Amino acid sequence: MEKYHSLVNKQKEFFRTEQTKDINFRITSLQKLRDAIRFKEKELMAALREDLNKSDFEAYTTEIGFVLAELRFTINNLRSWAKPKKVKTPKTHFGSTSYVYSEPYGTALIIAPWNYPIQLAIGPLIGAIAAGNCAVIKPSELTPKTSELLEELISELFPEHYISVVQGGVEASQALLNEKFDYIFFTGSVAVGRIVMEAAAKKLTPVTLELGGKSPCIVHKDAKIKLAAKRIAWGKFTNAGQTCIAPDYLYLHKSIKDRFLAQFKQEIAELYGKQPLENPNFTRIVNRSHFDRLRSYLNNGETFLGGKTESEKLIIEPTILTNISWEDPIMEDEIFGPIFPVLEYDNLSDVVEAIHRQPKPLAFYIFSESKSIQDKILNNVSFGGGCVNDTIYHVASPHLPFGGVGNSGIGAYHGKSSFDTFSHKKSVLKQTTRFDIPVRYPNIKNGLNIIKKVLK
Ligand code: NAD
Repeated sequence: MEKYHSLVNKQKEFFRTEQTKDINFRITSLQKLRDAIRFKEKELMAALREDLNKSDFEAYTTEIGFVLAELRFTINNLRSWAKPKKVKTPKTHFGSTSYVYSEPYGTALIIAPWNYPIQLAIGPLIGAIAAGNCAVIKPSELTPKTSELLEELISELFPEHYISVVQGGVEASQALLNEKFDYIFFTGSVAVGRIVMEAAAKKLTPVTLELGGKSPCIVHKDAKIKLAAKRIAWGKFTNAGQTCIAPDYLYLHKSIKDRFLAQFKQEIAELYGKQPLENPNFTRIVNRSHFDRLRSYLNNGETFLGGKTESEKLIIEPTILTNISWEDPIMEDEIFGPIFPVLEYDNLSDVVEAIHRQPKPLAFYIFSESKSIQDKILNNVSFGGGCVNDTIYHVASPHLPFGGVGNSGIGAYHGKSSFDTFSHKKSVLKQTTRFDIPVRYPNIKNGLNIIKKVLK
């Protein structure tokens, strides 16, 4: 589409002015972004309330506060990250020195989903700005209020030839994918991730794909039951389970199953109330089609807790389904809602086998007091990232690269990883002109023999 073509060209022209590479320009841009998010905190909360019925507490902890912490960390460290890094030089290169320069790719496209519409649009943008890029953000059409506010916020802060928000759905997204960007950062479903990678492959554009999948959560017989129940209830039902790294299904050791479930019920009531449908702060399902999709799972297995829905308000209460097997429809795809299927096991090795039959998950959680069990399972199972004795908390550390593996994604970000993701690492050898070691030249006497002594 003509307007996107012209927008991308304007950004490319601006990038060539070199202004975005200036470290002070980058830091000032990040500070402006931080100040604007602080200034618009109330409006952002109101938009999230309207789009998803997110409570102010969740809006702040998982979106606004999250990106503010990321901004602070980046602003404080950027000068050191951006410096060329001197690396070792082998003896064969005597006389020279070696450096890695981090240079911005140019113009980045950021496509975001609806479940954390601020965090997942602004998070990658922080990396893009920090690394010195221009960027176009395509937020989700399913959270229109927040996307509108993001557009307003960004357009008040930055000229469109630097950072711009393009609103729209599949059509806008695909039209943007037809343009030649220098980097594509996509967060969303596995199915759309494939489409994005295909489009990127046509233009050989590098990508980061932050995708989803079914993330397992295991509670072993030696786990601290009360703590596990509380931490799992929080990780699963935050944002009504619409979290890419939410525990998708629960594996309980047979010997603690009843005890755990009884405790789990209590913890859920503590966190979300005995009547969650009446809790004004329980997040709703994003739209009718997701609501209907989720409701269709409610007849799987046996309902241990919950199961009630409020169709007008698109709310589903925290629900636990027991007597579930891998043949049940709920075990086919990522659930992405407040419904939790429970499987039981005797041998941990059977659980590992079952997980290996599935695509590699984005997240993984194990609750156990035994270091050898923790180590064994961490060695055995491949996953994007995860926690031992907790859920979803790893996402909030700027020191831990966040991303998937296999079907759950390619690449990672957060903290310095965001800066690295949006930077090309340019290797440079600086050679001396004071002398010239002759062995590499073909006309040197006995050259091959000398080379053979060095390169072996
Ligand atoms: P989605 O893939 O449907 O949409 C994501 C974005 O892609 C939206 O902006 C949308 O407009 C665009 N899009 C949709 N269809 C498209 C198409 N055919 N061509 C081009 N663009 C298209 O995902 P969603 O429903 O918004 O989000 C839920 C999914 O995202 C879940 O699978 C979840 O696990 C995943 N997710 C992953 C992470 C992560 O960090 N790894 C975070 C949040 C969500």
